Amino acid sequence: MGILAREGYELTPRADEAEVLVVNTCSFIESAQKESVDAILEMAEHKKFGAAKKLIVAGCLVERFREQILEQVPEVDAVVGTGEVERILEAVEGDLRVLPAEPPAFLYHDLTPRIITTPRHAAYIKIAEGCDHPCTFCIIPQLRGKFRSRRFESVVREAENLAASGAREITLIGQDTTSYGEDLGLRDGLAQLLERLGQVEDLLWVRFLYAYPNRVTQKLLDTLAAHPRLAKYMDMPLQHASRSVLARMKRGSHGDAFLKLLERIRATIPGVSLRTSFIVGFPGETEADFEELCGFVRAAKLDWIGVFEYSDVDNAGSYALDTKVDAETITERRNRLMAIQKKISRERLRGFKGSTALALVEGPSKDNPLVWEARLEGMAPDIDGKLYLTDIELPIGETACSGDAARVEITKTDAYDLIGHVVEILPRPVGPGISAGPPMPPTEALTRISTGAALRVLG
Ligand code: SF4
Repeated sequence: MGILAREGYELTPRADEAEVLVVNTCSFIESAQKESVDAILEMAEHKKFGAAKKLIVAGCLVERFREQILEQVPEVDAVVGTGEVERILEAVEGDLRVLPAEPPAFLYHDLTPRIITTPRHAAYIKIAEGCDHPCTFCIIPQLRGKFRSRRFESVVREAENLAASGAREITLIGQDTTSYGEDLGLRDGLAQLLERLGQVEDLLWVRFLYAYPNRVTQKLLDTLAAHPRLAKYMDMPLQHASRSVLARMKRGSHGDAFLKLLERIRATIPGVSLRTSFIVGFPGETEADFEELCGFVRAAKLDWIGVFEYSDVDNAGSYALDTKVDAETITERRNRLMAIQKKISRERLRGFKGSTALALVEGPSKDNPLVWEARLEGMAPDIDGKLYLTDIELPIGETACSGDAARVEITKTDAYDLIGHVVEILPRPVGPGISAGPPMPPTEALTRISTGAALRVLG
């Protein structure tokens, strides 16, 4: 989007008025592929009956079905894989139809024009791309290529630019963030990067997602504990607790080792919020393996968990494994595990009642127009529970705005969400371009996308 906006293209959320349609696809699991194909077919209709002159398919589905997309959907004019993002202009303007498949190697940097589609106060930064782990259920390494890190200074500059344009929270992402910098010869690269980003003024929180358990070093934990701007939060997908299931997933380790690691994390970072995800119904998962996972979840008492039902993808390593678990059992196991966690979560959140906590105010709730939404340090954007605000106005008349840091008194708790009201609004940053409002990039005045957030061009 950034490359097209820089060349003067106007972005529109309305497919029926677009002259060029770009469908960015996912191919992670079967349901994502289906959703992607449905979106392509829906957009193809606009080419038949709407203003569209060109239909381009981009992203991970292209890495898997490059030729087939063009063969089977004749309305598609060009495909752009994950390694060819920078050639989007050729696809839009020229004759680029299909490029020979090459290992995806693209990695953006701080000068790559980028449209930020999240609300002004919260942004994501990708710090690395690709993955070298051999997890048998996962085709991300095939879709995204080998692990490669962005340059340290490039990430820092992007974070500083975002902070200067009003971001209060930055979330670092990548398939394997805990390996950050290894390919650049950095030791404890993620810890070093976080330490540096923890010094960017005007940021309230810096967090990172997706720690690989055996890459969590003491240095990383000490760094998180030491810097006030680094969110006391870790998302560490464990995938399972049974030794035999983890071995078949080619992830090694076992529940007892994970419990020890969690203990060490909690001892180093008091008050840390922990999130993990599990896959249930992996081939060969017996009832005993699943019971072991349930026991682990009860013992670990994590703040948040995500439970994914195993999905067979034909070019994943686990596709060839026998003793597949039937779909009904998989869904039933997911429900059982979520029910266990729901009780744990409700109990943990109950502890917040009557307390006052620092929150980042997000804006009016999409679920209920009568309340606003905010998040605590232990709540990552989009994935965890929320803090609903019944009142954002102080008795003296001051009102909280999106992006404000505020003290909130928690009045009610639920299984996953909290309810409270603002009791203090913290001073707003007065950095260049923030109090006076940053210069309006041309696209901001022009258009919004379906998230409702104004578009911003960075870089
Ligand atoms: S570490 Fe994550 S991205 Fe990498 S192969 Fe395993 S599941 Fe996939």
